[in-house]
Amino acid sequence: PVERRPDIQESRLQLPILAEEQVLMEAIRENPVVVVCGETGSGKTTQIPQFLYEAGYGRDAMIGITEPRRVAAVSMSHRVADEMNLSRRTVSYQIRYEGNVTPETKVKFMTDGVLLKEMQKDLLLSKYSVLVIDEAHERSVYTDILIGLLSRVVPLRTKKGNPLKLVIMSATLRVEDFTQNQRLFKIPPPVIKVDTRQFPVTVHFNKRTPGEEYLQETYRKVCKIHRMLPAGGILVFLTGQAEVHALCRKLQRSFPTACGALVKKTAESKETKKSKNEAKLPKIDLDNYTMEGEEDQADDGILEEDIDLETHIVGVDDDDDDMDDMDDSAATPTSDADLPMHVLPLYSLLPPDRQQRVFLPPPQGSRLVVVATNVAETSLTIPHIKYVVDTGKVKKRFYDKVTGASAFQVTWVSKASADQRAGRAGRTEPGHCYRLYSSAVFADFQTFSPPEIARRPVEDLVLQMKDMSIDKVVNFPFPTPPDVEAVKAAEQLLVQLGALQHTAKPKNPKAAQSPMVTPLGRAMARFPVSPRFSKMLALGEQHGLLPYVISIVAALTVQEIFVLSGTPAGGPEEQAGVKHVHSRVAQLKKTWAGQGQSLLLGDMMVLLRAVGACEFAGCTRKFCEENGLRYKAMTEIRSLRALLTNAINTVCPGAKVYVDPNMRPPTELQAKLLRQIVLSGLGDRIARRVPADQISDKSHKFAYQSTSMEEYVFIHPSSVLTKTCPEFVIFHEIIETGKPYMHCVAAVEQE
Ligand code: ADP
Ligand code: MG
Repeated sequence: PVERRPDIQESRLQLPILAEEQVLMEAIRENPVVVVCGETGSGKTTQIPQFLYEAGYGRDAMIGITEPRRVAAVSMSHRVADEMNLSRRTVSYQIRYEGNVTPETKVKFMTDGVLLKEMQKDLLLSKYSVLVIDEAHERSVYTDILIGLLSRVVPLRTKKGNPLKLVIMSATLRVEDFTQNQRLFKIPPPVIKVDTRQFPVTVHFNKRTPGEEYLQETYRKVCKIHRMLPAGGILVFLTGQAEVHALCRKLQRSFPTACGALVKKTAESKETKKSKNEAKLPKIDLDNYTMEGEEDQADDGILEEDIDLETHIVGVDDDDDDMDDMDDSAATPTSDADLPMHVLPLYSLLPPDRQQRVFLPPPQGSRLVVVATNVAETSLTIPHIKYVVDTGKVKKRFYDKVTGASAFQVTWVSKASADQRAGRAGRTEPGHCYRLYSSAVFADFQTFSPPEIARRPVEDLVLQMKDMSIDKVVNFPFPTPPDVEAVKAAEQLLVQLGALQHTAKPKNPKAAQSPMVTPLGRAMARFPVSPRFSKMLALGEQHGLLPYVISIVAALTVQEIFVLSGTPAGGPEEQAGVKHVHSRVAQLKKTWAGQGQSLLLGDMMVLLRAVGACEFAGCTRKFCEENGLRYKAMTEIRSLRALLTNAINTVCPGAKVYVDPNMRPPTELQAKLLRQIVLSGLGDRIARRVPADQISDKSHKFAYQSTSMEEYVFIHPSSVLTKTCPEFVIFHEIIETGKPYMHCVAAVEQE
């Protein structure tokens, strides 16, 4: 029996899903698999686990719920525990290497990756009586694979007389990939639709689509709404947490908080002070600074950071004459000092307690403004939103088919996403959505964004699947299968890494044989990094070099650790500042690269020494600034080192590694062994210098021929190996910037 607090009970009753409890529970009782579609905010995530608990599914086994994002797993477990008045020992969560699950746990929220790992140990998932796959519409790779696997596990459990129920939840009605897919479910599962009250939302397009200055345009639009339009919360969609903070700060400086204190004055005087200091400090080229990781990837990025992007938003003005698309009937422009604004940031890595604040009503008399990334698109519902300001942009990771290199890029969202965003404005009353792009631009948006599995290399999931004895990956019942070529490429790479092996020659040579997982592959499958890096980690253990390998892997995972060159804007003083940092970085690199074996390890050695030096100094912002290191990158590396160290101790308790703040530089012998380890993971990313007599074009001096591209490639000028130009090199990735440049280079010696 669940005893809820009266206020909780009252707010639950408002949720549309409550009306469907009986229909839904009956469907689940009668069918092994049920699909639930309900708009964001209808109560799926918080209520369905409670229905299941009250129906007794938690009695003899657990109710499991998977989320694509860590933040949702943690915050939803807390919310459900609160709503049911149960301890967190009973309603718990598990994310990668962190959780509060106890033997008493009945309801368990976890990331999809965690459940996949559990299935490697117990394919039948006998600890669970029901599994709820949340946010299935997002089509994250792990969610897709889980659904494929569970489609086979469910009948197996039925056969064993211990049935497992599967509930697939989606915020959109687009579920044909699950329901109309005969390979997945022979009998199409029933779809329960939750009706939501959706009030009309008027969509306003911009006449012009801003280019780079869209942040400024966003700021102007929010100010305009706030000054001219009736009460009601504003929800803004941006692409990443740096942008979110920048806009929040700008708004906070322009409008008073509810207590009437205008922060503007102090902020302004700070600003003047700052601009005096600025001359000494180089500015980060903010447009090139978009490598901070995909905002909402469950297991990405680690720390929040306050990057001051203040200077990024320029020329804010108040002369809004283009009120073209605004309903200004209610407009009574007032002095800004009378317009309190309650500004809150919201993004995936924001600590849960700060996230929680968007659910509370804003202080009396002030307008709620939530500045969010696309977490607010489907996974979190913010009450009392009447206006949505949509930049139409999202940050995504893109992969190069040839080199496998990837980069984060800001792109247009799909039409489906834009409509989801607009819908956020009409939950409590009719609302307005301001799209900061023209209708012509919208017309060119993709209808839906393709599932993640069709967009990225699949070596990590091929390895995981092989580890689960799914040998013919191409035959697996994916909701949407990955590209056959991508699977082949992944298998090839894994064979090369030694994670897979072709068994004895098939009797019929024509029958395509798929390689099997090796013991090394099994060990690799247990590390939370991509196979190239887990290979390095697996070998690191052998040679007792783990702390070094962990540091290199962590540093390679984080993009660029040095404050990037970029052409400095601003006056001569500032340029002098940049020059100063450049020469400091060059000098440090030279020192860190050292001589002999150390130098042969090249840029990897520089990474290793940078990590060591920074850690020794306590990883402070000051140290980073003085040494041209990106503070955010260094703090991320720090967390990753802790995570990997923890992972290794979990996987092989004998290793007993720890994060040493006084890591000494490796010896000559260690440097040599490290080079072999790096080579073992990057063995296919190798290039040979083209002999001088074969080069006709002068601009091709010091060109290299890599195994993966026909074109010549070059060592990036920032590398410590540009002077020596060894005959053979390995590199982390090729990034095309003017020329195809190899980044993070080490030498390969011929023995
Ligand atoms: P869905 O999963 O269908 O999107 P949820 O179950 O997440 O819906 O949310 C249902 C309602 O509960 C929403 O109106 C949301 O505002 C509210 N809610 C969710 N989490 C919290 C929380 N931590 N504190 C207060 N209200 C919350
Ligand atoms: Mg939800």
